[in-house]
Amino acid sequence: MDKIVAFLGLGHMGAPMAFNLIKAGFTVRGFDPVETLLQAAVEQGVEKCASAKEAVKGADFVISMLPSDAVVESLYIDKDHLLEVIEKQTLIIDCSTVSARSSKRLINAAQIKGLHAIEAPVSGGVKGAAAATLSFMCGGEHEDVERAKTVLQHMGTNVFFAGPAGAGQTAKICNNMLLAIHMIGTAEALQLGVDNGLDPKVLSEIMSKSSGANWSLQTYNPYPGVMESTPASNHYRGGFKVALMCKDLGLAQQAADHSRSYTPLGSLARNLFGLHSLKGNEELDFSSIQTIFNKEPYK
Ligand code: NAD
Repeated sequence: MDKIVAFLGLGHMGAPMAFNLIKAGFTVRGFDPVETLLQAAVEQGVEKCASAKEAVKGADFVISMLPSDAVVESLYIDKDHLLEVIEKQTLIIDCSTVSARSSKRLINAAQIKGLHAIEAPVSGGVKGAAAATLSFMCGGEHEDVERAKTVLQHMGTNVFFAGPAGAGQTAKICNNMLLAIHMIGTAEALQLGVDNGLDPKVLSEIMSKSSGANWSLQTYNPYPGVMESTPASNHYRGGFKVALMCKDLGLAQQAADHSRSYTPLGSLARNLFGLHSLKGNEELDFSSIQTIFNKEPYK
């Protein structure tokens, strides 16, 4: 494989995604403004670049995995002007979770310059990024998404085409709004059982084989000690931060305002996670929402 990938953003998700591309034989040139993260990536085979501009030169693919609308827009359009230096043969794949509005702005701005760009936000978390089992929810031109599979297939197991620019981001926030809702419901039900004398493992087993079965219960159980390898059994460390869930729920509410959709549970989930975050839990995994139902403060 002699293809070159420029990878921008080597954080929790970006770094393991980049490492999987190296394993698959791509040359990966990376940039992250946090020197320690960049250095850690270099130790795993990423070629160090002093700037995003340097990384994208001559790349076949530019992949970005960034925190917010503001960072994506500033990097590609407003401040670093990457769209001015990215070459015509390059395909831009933005994997960040951002608003559909921001994604459309990037993809349209790229098209105006004669460039090709898609959005490909992911589901599967840090574990999925490390295991190359992510799901990509792509929006943009169909043929660009087909071309993106050259790299996406080495970082994930599902590549979905959701529709035109913005559609992938919309699919992502619908999914995460539902995830937040069933995580809260699962935590609430488990605590009700425990408060009434049930063993959370026994209750989880029963609900998993009954009509309450869902992903939060069965693969990401929020009650400490029910499953060995979950954040709940590791003091809610690792995994998907409360702060990021708050961001996604905010994006879902923005979309609901825009389409005048009624999302009462999404709105409640946003409030509960927002309050949980304000109480100093923003760095914990989102399954720590379990602790809001504890009668005793969580230690
Ligand atoms: P993170 O904060 O760990 O990583 C983002 C990285 O972007 C940081 O290392 C930061 O230094 C870097 N960055 C900031 N400005 C930059 C710039 N100008 N150029 C290059 N790099 C820059 O966040 P993360 O957990 O890796 O999440 C990244 C994206 O993936 C977010 O949009 C998030 O919502 C989404 N996501 C995260 C998860 C998860 O479980 N963590 C799951 C699904 C989706």
